[in-house]
Amino acid sequence: MQFYCESLTEYKRLKTKEVKIGDLLLGNFHPIRVQTMTTTDTMDTMATVEQSIRCIEAGSELVRITAPSKNDAENLLHIKNELRKRGYHTPLVADIHFTPNAAEIAARIVEKVRVNPGNYVDKKKFELIEYTDADYAEEIDRIRERFTPLIKICKEYGTAMRIGTNHGSLSDRIMSRYGDTPMGMVESAMEFLRIARNESYHNIVLSMKSSNPQVMVQAYRLLVKTMFDEFGECYPLHLGVTEAGDGEDGRIKSAVGTGTLLEDGLGDTIRVSLTEDPELEIPVCKDLVKRYASRQSTVDSRQPIPAINKFSYDPFSYQKRESFEVGNIGGKHVPVVIADLSKIEKISHKHLQSVGYTYDEPSDKWNISDAAADYIFTANQILDFALPGTLKVIVYPEAWTRAKDKSKYFPIYQDSGYVETEIKSDQMNFVMVDCFNDGADPFTYLDQIANDPTVVICLSSTNKNAMQSVRRMYVELMSREIKNPVINITDSNWQTADEHLIHFATETGALLLDGLGDGICFGMTRKSYELLAASLEHLNAAGRNYTNNLTIEQFINSTCFGILQATRTRISKTEYISCPSCGRTLFDLQETTAKIRSRTNHLKGLKIAIMGCIVNGPGEMADADFGYVGSGPGKITLYKGKEIVKRNVNSEVAVDELINLLKENEAWMEP
Ligand code: SF4
Repeated sequence: MQFYCESLTEYKRLKTKEVKIGDLLLGNFHPIRVQTMTTTDTMDTMATVEQSIRCIEAGSELVRITAPSKNDAENLLHIKNELRKRGYHTPLVADIHFTPNAAEIAARIVEKVRVNPGNYVDKKKFELIEYTDADYAEEIDRIRERFTPLIKICKEYGTAMRIGTNHGSLSDRIMSRYGDTPMGMVESAMEFLRIARNESYHNIVLSMKSSNPQVMVQAYRLLVKTMFDEFGECYPLHLGVTEAGDGEDGRIKSAVGTGTLLEDGLGDTIRVSLTEDPELEIPVCKDLVKRYASRQSTVDSRQPIPAINKFSYDPFSYQKRESFEVGNIGGKHVPVVIADLSKIEKISHKHLQSVGYTYDEPSDKWNISDAAADYIFTANQILDFALPGTLKVIVYPEAWTRAKDKSKYFPIYQDSGYVETEIKSDQMNFVMVDCFNDGADPFTYLDQIANDPTVVICLSSTNKNAMQSVRRMYVELMSREIKNPVINITDSNWQTADEHLIHFATETGALLLDGLGDGICFGMTRKSYELLAASLEHLNAAGRNYTNNLTIEQFINSTCFGILQATRTRISKTEYISCPSCGRTLFDLQETTAKIRSRTNHLKGLKIAIMGCIVNGPGEMADADFGYVGSGPGKITLYKGKEIVKRNVNSEVAVDELINLLKENEAWMEP
């Protein structure tokens, strides 16, 4: 194993133990299974059965159902019987929080139970307590006593188990010793796993979910390393970004976190948590998983990537790669966005609107949005109108010689071209370095462009393992102490809007989460461009809201800023941490999220959590600034951070009260 995975330079699945869930085998190189969770009331047998069927028909290979009480757990039998009667044999999973009694009932009925080690035994009081080693050991004994009966039942009934840690619901014990860190998440699961192993129970899957993809990725990597160090083997991994939200943001966040891990061969089953109907999660899961079906033969024979023997950065904690500044790229600047407009024949004011610049003719002024691209790439076009003040243009060298305003236009070269030419900008030159594309040695010109104060390096790859190629090049730059800023250029050959979104989020997100990238630019072939146009048209006609009447350039620009937001490298909008809802949900989450979004989506940088229940919501809303949490039928409790500020507000006025709360805390501004 290399650090936390089988290989950092080629796609290789991590070998994990085989787990049996009913008739479904998981782990040990079995296909990556996709799953979801129902949102109906578990006591409503028929509604849960109908929704489970919709999920199964969509392709869900496991269906999880919440079991908050003993009654709900008992009702799983009716749900299971009805599904079997109708010919559906998909394994069911009971989701347990706080109620060991319900778990012990459910484990006798369904094929798998999920327990949250943060609240299976402990009741969270948000207390910080100093534990001596003896106190700590005593707590572990208490867990063993309460958890062992469930293990014995699972062994007897052949039931599988997921030990599912959530970043937002770590126990006070773990928080006191480790804080809400990836290490705390790992230790939280390991405490339970050690107890299960001592009982010779191994039918276990693990998860480390967080709504922050950075934390989530680090926690899974650390978990793999910890299991190998301690046991010499690894249990299967269930991947997911929790409370990812809905629409474009939810899909991007999920792909950034889950996709990053899948790229490194981690993950045996995935769930994408969207605040949408659960069956809509399955196509997203499938888009994520199908990327690896064709990568089973892992090495790109045209150009294998040299192994990484020494890491140049810490994969278990975030630190941005050090770079110097060229113009507004690199150094302490947030990553820039470069919009590729080269496929537009004649670029006009209207096209700049797609990338965040709206021209007002009467006043002859540009309105610049928070998500405005910093650069546009136009290939050979010099624009025949005055540009917005902050926007700059990248063109091929010949066009650059024609550009009059050299403070606005900058040339882009291939590495060999840059080294050989004498015609260069004295301010900024973009230099393409292809990473392991076609047998040519990508390191040939590195030392000649290294640390040239005008050079912004652009890394791209057509290698089968493209992300790994670019990452390998970063390792080379770092080991040679080359500190030029770098743009990650990601090309996509996929066809539909959803596939492109997943591709860009996975490939670019995986680099940004490791602090690699001073800018991003997405491109595609003419054929993919045309197919994307058709896909957007189709989705718009079908009334799909997150691609709502977007042009290709708008879609790509919005994807760029969404990825930067999800990786927390550049914040340009409000962040919503909304739970996917489940049988505990006390209001219509989709409708309420849409309502809150429509009132607050101009509050750049603010994190608002919208959680369906007060049992799990407050714990799981992680680092939200404000929380809107269901606390009873028709009742909402509002939070500032983790603190309750308005209890049991009538739901009819709760959104207004949330806005008042933002105003009282100077977190509001008029749209
Ligand atoms: S926070 Fe949402 S998904 Fe989680 S248990 Fe509560 S209602 Fe269900």
